[in-house]
Amino acid sequence: MTPRKITRQVTVGDDRVGRVRIGGGAPVVVQTMNAGYTHDIDACVAEINRYAKAGADIVRVAVPERKDTEALKEIMRQVKVPVVADVHFHYQRALEAVESGVHKIRLNPGNISDRDQVNKVIDACKERGIPIRIGVNEGSIIERRDKARRAEELGKFFAGHKSGHLLALMIAKLEEYLDIFAERDFHDVCISAKSMDAALVIDIYTEISKRFDYPLHLGVTHAGTRDSGCIRSISALRGLLANGIGDTVRISYASDHIDEVKDAIEMLCCLGMRERKGVELIACPTCGRIQVDLFTLVKEVEKVLMPELELPVKVAVMGCIVNGPGEAEGADVAVFAGDRRGIIYVQGQKVANVTEEEILPRLLHECKAFEAKVKAGEARLGEKLVEIKPPDPIGELGSGAAKIAAGQVAQVSVGQTG
Ligand code: SF4
Repeated sequence: MTPRKITRQVTVGDDRVGRVRIGGGAPVVVQTMNAGYTHDIDACVAEINRYAKAGADIVRVAVPERKDTEALKEIMRQVKVPVVADVHFHYQRALEAVESGVHKIRLNPGNISDRDQVNKVIDACKERGIPIRIGVNEGSIIERRDKARRAEELGKFFAGHKSGHLLALMIAKLEEYLDIFAERDFHDVCISAKSMDAALVIDIYTEISKRFDYPLHLGVTHAGTRDSGCIRSISALRGLLANGIGDTVRISYASDHIDEVKDAIEMLCCLGMRERKGVELIACPTCGRIQVDLFTLVKEVEKVLMPELELPVKVAVMGCIVNGPGEAEGADVAVFAGDRRGIIYVQGQKVANVTEEEILPRLLHECKAFEAKVKAGEARLGEKLVEIKPPDPIGELGSGAAKIAAGQVAQVSVGQTG
């Protein structure tokens, strides 16, 4: 991991909802955006607070109409996290949102026709100490209505392929917009340059990071459903964050946005950039040695343990004793399955050898008992590693190297536990 680039810092929020710092070495901030209408006040507040409860640090709302910015006044009184107003085309919406007490404005100066109008927004934000994110997303910077202008704009930049044109155009637009803000001595700025092309996202943010010291809002836009969008998003964002680039992230899915928040937090936890809250589950992918229905077991363990445990207890669910101990190294609680049985360990101590049916309830019991000990100060998370020395447990489990070598293992297909 490359140390994070220290950017300028902006602060989003107020006394009531708290202040979230973006950039300047602050922890990477997780954002999402409401999917519902902002003018539907109760639903909007409920949606924002649901994301906040899931761990979102900041939530953005669209304000395409006057009734949306009108609603913001009441919304701002009820929300539990800082809120950003997303403005396109109508500078008045930005001014109204500022009046409503919104904590940040997202603006694409390119789709606001008049420079004076952009200046009015900048001045209003400056007066109130409200930051602005300048977004030059791929989809919104290319001239679409005027084909001649589009050809001229793209033609200005030499590159051998579409992404090269786009990269050059996005940087040029960003420079042009930042000049507007610099002219008014406004530097309370975040910048974003999203695309649905993960490779372009890596290239553009890498380039922007070299050129500017404003905090960067990372994202892959229009990434698709969670199934396809997760890979698309994480492949870009993880690469950038690992290279020290990025101060806030939004993952975008065409599905429940709560998943954007969950996946962004999980990504940051996996990168060691955010402290995990709740259980961390490790599971083996299974192979020809498996003798229990591990896929079902892991899903059940996840479903049962996640809501039950508050602390980041590391739990390993392994299909056998052959590679399991090594792969589960560092787990606080681990189960190693064998021939329709499972041995459960808590920080290196064997505590149970149970049948397949008993694995789930016993694992839950042991996890809760361990968490209670940690809370009481009688144990510490990650203090002792799981340490098992084969072949001792192999006989107990009725599987393992010796049996496999002797051809005695009756293998079953996953899902056929009967
Ligand atoms: S832990 Fe055992 S069953 Fe699971 S993948 Fe490794 S060797 Fe296969």
